[in-house]
Amino acid sequence: MTSAARARPRPGTPGKRVARDAAVKAALDVVRGREDLIARRANDPVEFVHRHRARADRELVALLAASCAFGNVKAIRLKLAELLDRVGPRPARAADDPEALTARLLGFKHRVFRGEDLAKLLVGARRVQRAAGSLGAAFQRELARVDRTRSDEEPEARVREALASFCDLIRAEGGLPRAGQVDPTGRRGPSHLLSDPRAGSGAKRLLLFLRWMVRPADGIDLGLWKVSAQRLLVPVDVHIHKLARNLGLTRRRDLSWRTSVEITRALARFDPEDPTRYDFSLCHMGMVQRCPSRPDAARCEGCGVQPVCVHWQRAKKAS
Ligand code: SF4
Repeated sequence: MTSAARARPRPGTPGKRVARDAAVKAALDVVRGREDLIARRANDPVEFVHRHRARADRELVALLAASCAFGNVKAIRLKLAELLDRVGPRPARAADDPEALTARLLGFKHRVFRGEDLAKLLVGARRVQRAAGSLGAAFQRELARVDRTRSDEEPEARVREALASFCDLIRAEGGLPRAGQVDPTGRRGPSHLLSDPRAGSGAKRLLLFLRWMVRPADGIDLGLWKVSAQRLLVPVDVHIHKLARNLGLTRRRDLSWRTSVEITRALARFDPEDPTRYDFSLCHMGMVQRCPSRPDAARCEGCGVQPVCVHWQRAKKAS
């Protein structure tokens, strides 16, 4: 059964629902169509991944960039620039020498992460990469195993388990503590580098990494892995969450895994083959628009989804 078929029943008559879906899809297509993806990429962490040509380097830089994607995008990019400068031009080669890499990253800090934590992430990922041939092959193997052994579970739950097992491999190879646990020096920070989707976390950074690797290459996503884009889930940050609520795609108030599933299933009604195709444009629009989540003529001006925004529709009905 596809994600679309599993979508929750929505209120309203079938005719109204079909018309509403068509209107929301049309608005999303306008937003995506008018987005200059390449210009936007220059301000996004994924741009660092595109600087590399070798697949092994791209996978490692993507994992590093997604894992560091906490908070303000400008600050993230500044930190990534410093970090990757220290790592050097061939991250895969650098990760083959754990001691030298750790020495190069000593003194680096980004939020709760230190250079030595990021060295462990890179070393662990590189070992998994070498053993399986690529990170993509390691993830595909985990997903195939979970699909085979847990066929009674929902497709999204199987992706969650495959992602969690994939992270377990990297943690074990790199010597990183499991989510919530402390490292030998008593620090909890390193355990947050790879989130734990099993704990219900929205796992935004892991889903972002997965989207970069899986979605067909479009100037933003790279399409490196042989995994169907149907298996992807939307990485839900505050911008996507706010817009999803304002478009009636979810009523949930948290940034949990469940919310990501609900938004993805709603988006699958518009594109069942590629439900996350609107994610990048919506996220950047949310950043630029500073959405107030209420009708505000000044701040909503130019918002591509205003014709289908629930706040404006309610205001129109009330007037
Ligand atoms: S119209 Fe305004 S409130 Fe609605 S999504 Fe756009 S910016 Fe937000």
